[in-house]
Amino acid sequence: MRILVIGSGGREHAIVWALNKSDKVSKIFCAPGNAGIAELAECAPIPVNRFDDLIQFSCDNEIDLVVVGPDDPLADGIVDAFEERNVPIYGPRKNAAEIEGSKIFMKNLLKKYNVPTAKYETFTDYETALTYLRQQEIPVVVKADGLAAGKGVTVAFSMEEAEEALQGMMVGKVFGESGGRVVIEEFLEGQEMSILAFVDGETVRAMVPAQDHKQVFDNDKGPNTGGMGTYSPLPHIDPALVEDAIENIIKPTARAMVSEGRPFRGVLFAGLMMTKSGVKTIEFNARMGDPETQVVLPRLKTDLLDIILASMNGRLDQLQIEWSDEAAVCVIAASEGYPAPYPKGRVITGLEAARAQGALVFHAGTALADGNIVTNGGRVLGIVGRGRDIAEARAKAYEAVSAIHFEGMHSRTDIAAKALR
Ligand code: ATP
Repeated sequence: MRILVIGSGGREHAIVWALNKSDKVSKIFCAPGNAGIAELAECAPIPVNRFDDLIQFSCDNEIDLVVVGPDDPLADGIVDAFEERNVPIYGPRKNAAEIEGSKIFMKNLLKKYNVPTAKYETFTDYETALTYLRQQEIPVVVKADGLAAGKGVTVAFSMEEAEEALQGMMVGKVFGESGGRVVIEEFLEGQEMSILAFVDGETVRAMVPAQDHKQVFDNDKGPNTGGMGTYSPLPHIDPALVEDAIENIIKPTARAMVSEGRPFRGVLFAGLMMTKSGVKTIEFNARMGDPETQVVLPRLKTDLLDIILASMNGRLDQLQIEWSDEAAVCVIAASEGYPAPYPKGRVITGLEAARAQGALVFHAGTALADGNIVTNGGRVLGIVGRGRDIAEARAKAYEAVSAIHFEGMHSRTDIAAKALR
């Protein structure tokens, strides 16, 4: 089969890598891709929001299946657009992707179907929101309704910070229309966990769980990022909590989407908080996580293409999905200054040496320039070590990180350390 993967990050590199292992795949294309993806796939420089151009490209290149990575095109209805033209595409339609695209839709859905989540209220009027906010306990969480590249959430530890965030969103419009509507919610205390699941209507096939590290510096200090590293499995987490989340959060949510006439087909990502009073939902994403994908797919033993095809043919419930017991740890190498503005174009060395050690190096923000691989984004690489357990996988990941260099490269040194304590 000829496959087109849409996106250009580390997640898409991992998806291309996993699909490339399938003997049913004859050729992979990626739009727009990056320098690492270009080693496995033919990259086409088409932006992810140019649906007509992507459809035309798919027709011209006899693509049998399109797989979508990022959230924006899903929220904008890329799946509906391809389906209208009869080009097979894997991912949720626009009305199902709204579970990520609108936090208000998601929160109201969970409330209606009694799925555990933080207590909240939603607002479209600044003065009303401010009055409500001032009555809340600190810490409190303020969220812009729409997509804001992971930056539309403020966990405020003072009322001043909370008010500033609210004003920025609703009055200053720092996130544009995304912030015209807000959610103010209760702060949940506990450890976070991500569970991704292949979902087709009411059928849910959960993947192995992972944990992400959002803050840019060690010991969870500094501003939030897209994710600085992940690991899987979670040996320090009671498996009963994972079961609890699948049975009481993910499956009821999939059923709720069917009841609402918005059946979800694709990968549903649950961001969860393990609180003293049980597991609660923080968010849902309508696609694979980045960098969760980079540790989850290396543990997948079943052919990823078989899973996607089973889902597209309504047979996901008949498929057994197998996972390896191996551990995987992903350390992100980021550009100097990230998540603030950062330089681009710095030459990356040591990629071959890292691979020779057995690491998987998934490219995120990279490009080719004058025969060199150079930095081209905030998160540049996801360096994955694999081993019998987290300790071994972590040691391998960091050994590979130390083989790689670019000017100003920054990584956290404590990825997965929590799992060893
Ligand atoms: P992303 O897609 O990058 O994860 P997002 O914009 O969809 O971000 P959320 O996932 O809802 O936003 O929140 C981002 C982070 O803020 C969460 O991973 C969590 O660490 C923190 N957070 C969100 N809601 C709460 C809450 N109610 N209590 C405590 N922390 C929270």
